[in-house]
Amino acid sequence: MPNPPKAPNAGAPVTAGAGALEKIASGWMHTAKFLTTAPTLQFLPVLELPEIAFVGRSNVGKSSCINTLTQQHRLAFASKTPGRTQAINLFTLGKQGVHDAILADLPGYGYAKVPLADKHRWQKVMANYLVSRKNLLAVVLLVDPRHGLTELDDLLLQMLLPRVEEGLKLLVVLTKVDKLNRTEASKALSIMQLQVAGAEVRLFSSSKKTGVHEVSQLLWQWTHPDIPSEATPPLQESSDSAQ
Ligand code: GDP
Repeated sequence: MPNPPKAPNAGAPVTAGAGALEKIASGWMHTAKFLTTAPTLQFLPVLELPEIAFVGRSNVGKSSCINTLTQQHRLAFASKTPGRTQAINLFTLGKQGVHDAILADLPGYGYAKVPLADKHRWQKVMANYLVSRKNLLAVVLLVDPRHGLTELDDLLLQMLLPRVEEGLKLLVVLTKVDKLNRTEASKALSIMQLQVAGAEVRLFSSSKKTGVHEVSQLLWQWTHPDIPSEATPPLQESSDSAQ
């Protein structure tokens, strides 16, 4: 197993304006490195760093989303056989080797061809993880807007509700929006905002890189609440893209 994560950076405070923030957040996401894989909860290391869990049904575009956000081709495995990657994979985030957050990739759920016993086992592992993982700061739920919230997404949201009320952050990422036209995308966004009132919702496309900066910035801000994002004006207009 690689070196365990170090404590968050306690260095000098950093301030960032909007343009600079985009670069900081995307550079930060790019630092993602594989830490460990856990076939069951008891194999997960106990960590203090804030953890962001990515969850969603099989084939929703979760691996592609993680790879796009981190600007790495094969960090998360885009599985050829949906439902096969049944383990929790952890990645460290943090610049200059100073880890300051953990990204957790949870197995996709709901794939029809997975045997029922395996489905139930994984639903349990996922439920236990979401309810009991102490350092869990945020959940990113990926939803394909063409299908909307599935029954299992709903179950997961119900499960999360008590933790959200206690401060757990929730982001719903609407995936593959390149398959929608502008009107459909904005309608999907409004509907989801109503369905998960209080949570953040973003449009995303790995193919078109839609929403990459918005999602990266939100995750960075959630994990770095002490760093004011608008304390200084942007150093310069950022016209470049991280990709
Ligand atoms: P996962 O099972 O949730 O990890 O999903 P994957 O990331 O493996 O993606 C499932 C399928 O959707 C693959 O065929 C991807 O190429 C496709 N896909 C993922 N993201 C996008 C996207 O943004 N746009 C389009 N059009 N297809 C996507």
